[in-house]
Amino acid sequence: MTLTSLIARYVRQNWRPYLLAALMLASVSALTVFIPRHVGHIVDAMAAGRLEDAELVRQLGWLVLAGVLIYFLRVAWRLQLFAASYRLGAELRTRLYGRLCLQGPHFFHQRGTGDLMALATNDIDAVEMASGEAMLAGFDGTLTLIMVVAMMTLGIDWRLALVALLPFPFMAFAFWRISSHIHQASKDSLECFGKINDHVQETLTGVRTLRALGLETRSAARFSELAENAASASLRAQRWEAAFEPAVGIALVSATVLTLGLGGALVWQGALTIGALTAFSMYLGQLIWPMFAAGWVLSLLERGRAAWGRLQPALDTPLSIDDHGTQTQMPAGAILFKGVSFSYPGHQALALSGIDVRVMAGHTLGVVGATGSGKSTLVRLILRQYAASEGEIKWGAHALADYPLDTLHQSLSWVPQEPFLFSASIAENIGLAKANAARADIENAARLACIDEDIARMPQGYDTPVGEKGVSLSGGQRQRVAIARALLADAPLLLLDDALSAVDTQTETSILQHLQELRKASPGKTTVIVSHRLSAVMDAQHIVVLKDGRIAEQGTHASLLGLGGWYADQWRYQQLQASLDAD
Ligand code: ADP
Ligand code: MG
Repeated sequence: MTLTSLIARYVRQNWRPYLLAALMLASVSALTVFIPRHVGHIVDAMAAGRLEDAELVRQLGWLVLAGVLIYFLRVAWRLQLFAASYRLGAELRTRLYGRLCLQGPHFFHQRGTGDLMALATNDIDAVEMASGEAMLAGFDGTLTLIMVVAMMTLGIDWRLALVALLPFPFMAFAFWRISSHIHQASKDSLECFGKINDHVQETLTGVRTLRALGLETRSAARFSELAENAASASLRAQRWEAAFEPAVGIALVSATVLTLGLGGALVWQGALTIGALTAFSMYLGQLIWPMFAAGWVLSLLERGRAAWGRLQPALDTPLSIDDHGTQTQMPAGAILFKGVSFSYPGHQALALSGIDVRVMAGHTLGVVGATGSGKSTLVRLILRQYAASEGEIKWGAHALADYPLDTLHQSLSWVPQEPFLFSASIAENIGLAKANAARADIENAARLACIDEDIARMPQGYDTPVGEKGVSLSGGQRQRVAIARALLADAPLLLLDDALSAVDTQTETSILQHLQELRKASPGKTTVIVSHRLSAVMDAQHIVVLKDGRIAEQGTHASLLGLGGWYADQWRYQQLQASLDAD
């Protein structure tokens, strides 16, 4: 869809305010062209000496009335039109936001967060301006132009009009050249702004790392480079916009010279009255607005087109995960991986290959292996953040893809290694898992996740706010808040992806114990525990050891120890380390 068709569609859908605005604008134009003609008549009447005082006052009264009416109509159409264009902005923002919420991780790897934020603010603003301001200026300018030219040709003298309008085609040509430059400069400027946003967002997120590494000056230098680029692109756009004005000026001055030359001659010959010539030059002056409007509209439209060119891909990128599942039942039963292989989009290497695993309902699966062996990837496939490249994952009788994402996500809770906490109180962060969770349930979940004592020590207890991403909490505390959230949800499937890595072994053991008791109390609930600490999975019914994306060993804790492979070695090593730590 082009910007033009977007705006056309929007105007069709919201024809009422646009029509109302157009009618009011038309009245304004009619009143505006009425004034010079009326002044012309007054001048002629005065010159002929047949205007009495009372009549003059009455005629001037009409002029004042026209002025007042123009004022009110201008206010009213602005209100109509801007309300409509702001609604379009809101609609586009809602669409963009909804779209972003549905995109998978791959999309966000490709586009910076800051740039996406710029799309939602700056670029949509530009489209909004094109659909409001540009429409009104375009309509108003065209209408005024038609009326003024009609009055000049039909109302006064067509020969004079023909000569006076000679310079304008040249001006139109100049406008056309200028606007193509504005398009390019606007595109550059919007892109630079997106990059600035990206940089600021990244810097603020990683400000502590940046300081710790002493990289502030480098980051600041990069920022000022970006800011300068943005400034120079904006300046370039402004410079081209500024070129509109002299073009209008030159055209008008030439037109005035031609008018006075030919008009003077016509008056001399008695073919034109002085009043008509006065009116004609006032009309010429009234052409200034349509000319400026044309320049203004062109630059707004070019800005809007550049913005739309950036926005549209974000709105139209197909969702990285299709959500066409039709299964209405909630998923239940065993989870089955059948010959699953997967490589990340744009990567050749297989992150997982030939995975065959079955987890019975109510069982716990342990997943262990070295860093980079594919543990998190396996979890991401269950979450359907990505789809398997080969093979099939089933939950119960149906493939994962048969469930709508919404249903699937309601049936599982996921705790990643670095959980996200929202800018809200601790209680609210835990309570997110369950609509209208009672305070007692939240506190119980916190107790099971062994975070209750930490919370009790906080200044406002459960009502203590945690900043964006929970900056005021330690990594281990954040993990336990997230675990409490998952325990409160008590979903049919619980996925813990190294979710206790920052918690000490003793606390981990008691959390896992609580977890087991809880899951046992309501049978059929399945758990997948990914951990680098083998003690976390030793009680699982089944354990798989991943190596380079393949299953290297699998079995129960006892059978894996008997196998004498990676698991057995790792177990001995971790036991030794634990006994050393205890000393
Ligand atoms: P683990 O959780 O066992 O440490 P991961 O599942 O995170 O390992 O990673 C498995 C492999 O996939 C690694 O080789 C890693 O480099 C690669 N990988 C992980 N995430 C991505 C990604 N978003 N894009 C491309 N490759 C990735
Ligand atoms: Mg991982």
